[in-house]
Amino acid sequence: MSDTDTYDVRIDREACDGVFACLVRDSRFVEDEDGLASVDPETAVSVECDGEFVTARFDDGNLDQAKQAAAACPLDAISVTEGVR
Ligand code: SF4
Repeated sequence: MSDTDTYDVRIDREACDGVFACLVRDSRFVEDEDGLASVDPETAVSVECDGEFVTARFDDGNLDQAKQAAAACPLDAISVTEGVR
């Protein structure tokens, strides 16, 4: 697998309003105990949360699904970065 298959999904928890359009597009997104979006750690290489941002790293080939979730978020709370190392 090359580096370009790796991508990060970042959720801005300040922007997220628990609409959960993302969960419908991508089942790797889950609701956390605060009622905001997070990522199921079982589905990711790693998931980190610093309070404001949840950052999940994937290398699973499901980039398009993540992009669909990001596009569906009405608050632009999800960003996807491709080709990270
Ligand atoms: S769609 Fe956006 S606002 Fe809604 S839960 Fe997902 S990240 Fe949060």
